[in-house]
Amino acid sequence: MTARVLVVDDILPNVKLLEAKLMAEYYEVVTALNGPEALKRVVEDNPDVVLLDVMMPGMDGFEVCRQIKANPLTAHVPVVMVTALTDVEDRVRGLENGADDFLSKPVNDVALMARVRSLVRLKMTVDEWRARESTATQLGVTDEASTVMAQPVDNAQILVLEDMAFDANKVVDAMARDNNHVTLVSNGMDALKEIAAKDFDLIFLSLNLKNEDGARFCAHLRSNERSRSTPIIMLGEETDLERIAHCLEIGAHDYLLRPLDRNEMLARCRTQIRRKRFQDRLRANYEISLSMALTDALTGLYNRRYFEVHMQKMLQSARENRKPLGFLYMDIDHFKAINDTYGHQVGDEILKGFSSRIKDAVRSFDLVARLGGEEFVAILPDTTPEVAYAVGERLRRVVADTPFPCSSAEGQLSITSSFGGVVLTGDALDNVAVTDVVQRADAQLYEAKHNGRNCVYFEGKGKL
Ligand code: GH3
Ligand code: MG
Ligand code: MG
Repeated sequence: MTARVLVVDDILPNVKLLEAKLMAEYYEVVTALNGPEALKRVVEDNPDVVLLDVMMPGMDGFEVCRQIKANPLTAHVPVVMVTALTDVEDRVRGLENGADDFLSKPVNDVALMARVRSLVRLKMTVDEWRARESTATQLGVTDEASTVMAQPVDNAQILVLEDMAFDANKVVDAMARDNNHVTLVSNGMDALKEIAAKDFDLIFLSLNLKNEDGARFCAHLRSNERSRSTPIIMLGEETDLERIAHCLEIGAHDYLLRPLDRNEMLARCRTQIRRKRFQDRLRANYEISLSMALTDALTGLYNRRYFEVHMQKMLQSARENRKPLGFLYMDIDHFKAINDTYGHQVGDEILKGFSSRIKDAVRSFDLVARLGGEEFVAILPDTTPEVAYAVGERLRRVVADTPFPCSSAEGQLSITSSFGGVVLTGDALDNVAVTDVVQRADAQLYEAKHNGRNCVYFEGKGKL
């Protein structure tokens, strides 16, 4: 994994030391000797992680961090504060300014590399979702970008796996301040039961359990479908640093050393919850935008864009599997008159009703799409001509036989529709393009329209 690290420190030898350590691990390193320069580098060099000294003349590390996290362009870049002070107050202040972690000088090599690696990995995931979301935003379908720091930190579901009552109580205590809901368990079996039943936003995991290995359980949580992306904060002793490094390596997010400090715990917990909520939001936006880009807002059916790609695939799989493929083009009769007589609103209601009736009347693996206006298509995979004819006739009756409820004065309207169909079998499937199939079915639809409407025409068959 190659990544770019920005090292910020006002003392040149400190910069050189970290630079050497990171370059030995094949990281690309950029440096800055003061706050304003650091802010410039973050924007221009787009680092994957920032290692930031706290004590600097002029603008200190807290302020630099605050500004990085306040700028939507740079808010997603992980920041590790590096300081000679081991004062808990300072750590909390850093974390409250949005720092993702804290390292003390002299920097422990194992901790440094583990932190950098895990933060780089995290950023890559977030970058991936950001890229997808930005494509979606260009399509004009998501809300404006929001930042990690803007995410709420309260009311989270938190699982605590800790069998030492004293520390378990500390966690419960600290979490109460943000109205978090804590589920406390003392062994892995119980933890798994809770995870199966509930969605957690964060897991605290003790590495000092009496009867089991917390590090092994951490690996288990990473491979379990239900907890794979849930943040984990480990609770350990100073002597556990090697195991902590290993857990960070395999995907745990953070750790706290005993004696546990409530303020630091709360600050680290907030960082994880904010991040998780930010990531969840990116993913949800992406999924909404994806479905909006591919479906029709009025009827909920797939749109033309989706249809074209899907039809291509269906043609190919019919060719490969030597299975016949049926295709129907359908159009509501005299639909313009419905709009003209009853208004556009009633027209829309009819379009919705028509769509859901057609969709309910075909098999789940048939695909119905709205190409535009009152024109629809259905793809019928693995369908012989006889079956396709039967489907066409069934759809015609489903529409014509029962009036559609709507907001017209009568409360309902009877409508009819016309169908044009094609069934491709054997060699007829070779070298045929989507547009050809659509045109051939449309030609049959034209026949149906010009021969009385409310009927079904198939290529090679004529009127049913
Ligand atoms: P035919 O029997 O020959 O199909 O006649 P028709 O009136 O159904 O066909 P035509 O293509 O002339 O008219 C289609 C009408 O559908 C015209 C257009 O205003 C209307 N339309 C297209 N999209 C929508 C929509 O989303 N909502 C509503 N209410 N009407 C729509
Ligand atoms: Mg029509
Ligand atoms: Mg039309």
